Amino acid sequence: MHEKILIVGGAGYIGSHVNCLFKQNGFDTITYDNLTTGHRELVEGKFIFGDILDIQNLDKVFSEHKFDVVIHLAAKSLISESYVKPILYYDNNLVGTLNILKMMEKHNVKKVVFSSTASVYGTPMHHPVTESEPLNPDSVYGFTKQVIERMITDTAKNKGLSYIILRYFNAAGAELNGKYGELHIPETHLIPLVLDVAMGLESHIEIFGTDYDTPDGTCIRDYIHVVDVADAHFKGVQWLLEQGESDEGHILNVGSGHGFSVLEVIETARKITDEEIPTVEGQRRPGDPPKLVASSEKISNLFGWEPIHSSLETILETAWNWHLGRKLSILGKTESIRQVIG
Ligand code: UDP
Repeated sequence: MHEKILIVGGAGYIGSHVNCLFKQNGFDTITYDNLTTGHRELVEGKFIFGDILDIQNLDKVFSEHKFDVVIHLAAKSLISESYVKPILYYDNNLVGTLNILKMMEKHNVKKVVFSSTASVYGTPMHHPVTESEPLNPDSVYGFTKQVIERMITDTAKNKGLSYIILRYFNAAGAELNGKYGELHIPETHLIPLVLDVAMGLESHIEIFGTDYDTPDGTCIRDYIHVVDVADAHFKGVQWLLEQGESDEGHILNVGSGHGFSVLEVIETARKITDEEIPTVEGQRRPGDPPKLVASSEKISNLFGWEPIHSSLETILETAWNWHLGRKLSILGKTESIRQVIG
């Protein structure tokens, strides 16, 4: 009998891939999500509709199930939006996580995997970025994640729980058979937007800044395949289940170790899709550091984790496959539901 796992925010892009991997490996999972950015269609297995700000509902869920581990991915996560809606971000991310930690304490659940972000580093001084790089988030979003990391590590020091905190770099790509993928409404991320242009859903891609101090003037990011990200959660949970109470936990980067510029992403997407993908040069976007490339040595050494699907070509091929297949049908349904509601 496999352990029972609560996946909070499991209807989102990364959460749906995490849930899929655990289910494939025989775990009993329950996804809890308010579907503000997630999609019911992306959840395989048991689903509970609920908000992390609704502590009564969380209490009910924790009372009805005996969870062995909580994987917490629910968050407001757009850097630009976080500057203009700070209260929304502080409320949802901080209060929501406090509610989860309170319920874990009350119901004696002592293991957590938490989704953090490279945004906690702000503009790093050293590359590749290791976990000991000073934390200096510029955005409200990044700061909420820094505070949550501290909430979790402080609780762990008191023997309240053990944790794996994963600092994702740029999760991208889609499930290898095209079953799950990236679907944000509205979309703001580079790769899905570039592919929307290739499909003719958008006329062009705007490049946010061409005057950065990088070889081609555009920002460099470390794109990590979402299936590799899901595998980091899987290995994290295995570690938590095996290690007992002896170790508080680990904070781990999850990246490919390779950086690609915005122009390189667009050029590779042109090759994979065989489409023109027109571009327009635009202004820099607030909070974008010129370069973010991870050292993932720590997670490799600890778990034997490797980014096996994270070549830029595989990321774009799987994302394109998802775009051409299931994304459109879910998007169609969502849009028509919106029209009915609207
Ligand atoms: N970007 C861009 N045009 C877009 C969306 C993103 O030039 O329409 C750039 C963005 O400035 C960043 C990179 O693409 O340098 C990746 O952005 P994304 O929003 O995908 O992820 P982030 O790095 O913000 O987490």
